[in-house]
Amino acid sequence: MKGLLVVLLLALLCDAGFAEEKHRTDREIPKFGMTPAQESVFEETITAIGSLEPKKVAIGAPVYFRLTRFARLFGFSFDGQRLRDWLLRRMKSVTHANTWTIATNDNGGDFTLGDRFFEKSDFLERAYALIHEARHSDGGGHPHVRCPSDFRQVSAGTPEIDVTAAAACDDESDGAYAFQSAFLFELYARDMVDQQEAGLLYNSSVARVLGKQKK
Ligand SMILES: [Zn+2]
Repeated sequence: MKGLLVVLLLALLCDAGFAEEKHRTDREIPKFGMTPAQESVFEETITAIGSLEPKKVAIGAPVYFRLTRFARLFGFSFDGQRLRDWLLRRMKSVTHANTWTIATNDNGGDFTLGDRFFEKSDFLERAYALIHEARHSDGGGHPHVRCPSDFRQVSAGTPEIDVTAAAACDDESDGAYAFQSAFLFELYARDMVDQQEAGLLYNSSVARVLGKQKK
């Protein structure tokens, strides 16, 4: 009898899980100004994020444990499905507009995706851009600050901007660039995509985090 109760309870819990899963999918997010092809690019990106299964760490343990921040920032260990849900909870709508950058989010979860998102970006760039923007849905939006005047990095993805003139750095250690970096670092460390591309993107992303990392 007890066994049956446990089974019933488990079935109920599983049902609740599925209900929550069904509650929000990428297809249910209102989309504006997007062509069917653009909707597919967006949906495929979300699906691909959800299917990122954590591989074994493929770099030295001391380096990994010194630099990994994913679990501390996101609140769960690296896992594509949980990351996808984390992302979708922070997206209210998606609009295509020819913005100056790959993507924006006004802090309310209304995302704008620029031409660059659809035409000039690969999966990795689209994925980290969405994760970056999703962090702007939290709290007061985690606004950026200008990079310091002696900042020596350029914006490889948006060469037309001067990062010391635009707000393109974070003075806090848990802003959008920290989340973006933590995601890229896991893909690099676990060798899940082009490792060199992930490593280079991690390096340039983490340079934007000016605030001291909390232990
Ligand atoms: Zn941002």
